[in-house]
Amino acid sequence: MKGSSDNRYIVFLGAPGAGKGTQAAGVAQTLGLGYIATGDMFRQAMEMDTPLALQAKSYLGKGALVPDEITIPMVLENISAPKFKGGVVFDGFPRNLKQAEALDKALAEQGKAINKVVYLKVLEAELLKRLGGRWVCRQCQTPYHAVDSPPKVKGKCDKCGGELYQRPDDTVETIKKRLEVYFAETASLIDYYAKAGKLYEVDGTGGVDEVGERIAVLLKGL
Ligand code: AMP
Repeated sequence: MKGSSDNRYIVFLGAPGAGKGTQAAGVAQTLGLGYIATGDMFRQAMEMDTPLALQAKSYLGKGALVPDEITIPMVLENISAPKFKGGVVFDGFPRNLKQAEALDKALAEQGKAINKVVYLKVLEAELLKRLGGRWVCRQCQTPYHAVDSPPKVKGKCDKCGGELYQRPDDTVETIKKRLEVYFAETASLIDYYAKAGKLYEVDGTGGVDEVGERIAVLLKGL
C-alpha cells in the first residue's frame, strides 16, 4: 500500500439502521475524503428517472440488493474520478463478497488498498426502532429520527432546509427483508475483513456524537 496520508480508503459496515450514513459522512468531512454511498446514489438516480432508476427501483422497493452487474461498475467508475483521488469513505458498499473482492482488486490495480473497516454493531431490536422512526432530507440525505434526533423544525432539514421524507423502504415489511439480506449476504464481510486484519468493531449504540467519538479514536493518525 502507498503512503496512507495520500490514499485513505475506509469502509463502513453494519446493518441497516446502524448509523453508517451519519457516521461515514461525518468521517469523510472531517478527514477531507470523498464519500460514496451507494444507497444515496440509487435514490438520487431514481429521482431523475434515468434507465438506472427503473432497474434500481424494483430492488430498493423490495429491500433486495441491486445486482452486482449494475452496482460494481457504478462504484468502480467513481473511485477513479479526480475528486476521489485522496481517498474515499464507503457507505453501503461493499455489501457482499463479490463486491468486496472487486473493490480490493480495483484498488490494488492502482497500488492502493482499504486501510480500515469500521463495523458498527447495534442489536436488532434497536435497529428496528431506529429504522421505524427515520426521516431523511430529500436534498442532502441527512438522516433524522422522530424521537432520538428530531429536526429543529418539523419536516425540514437543519442543514439545508430541504424537505424531510420517510424512505419508501423503511416500511415494516421492507425493513425485515433488508435485515434478512444483511444477515444472509453482508454479515459475511465481517469475517472477510477480520481475516485481512482490517476490521475494527465499534459499539454503535448511544448518541451520534458519542459513537462519533469512538470512531474518531480508532481512525486517529490515519
Ligand atoms: P442503503 O441506503 O445503504 O440502506 O441502501 C438502500 C438500498 O439500496 C438497499 O436496500 C439496496 O436495494 C440498494 N443498495 C445500496 N447499496 C447497495 C450495494 N452495495 N449493492 C446492492 N444494492 C445496494
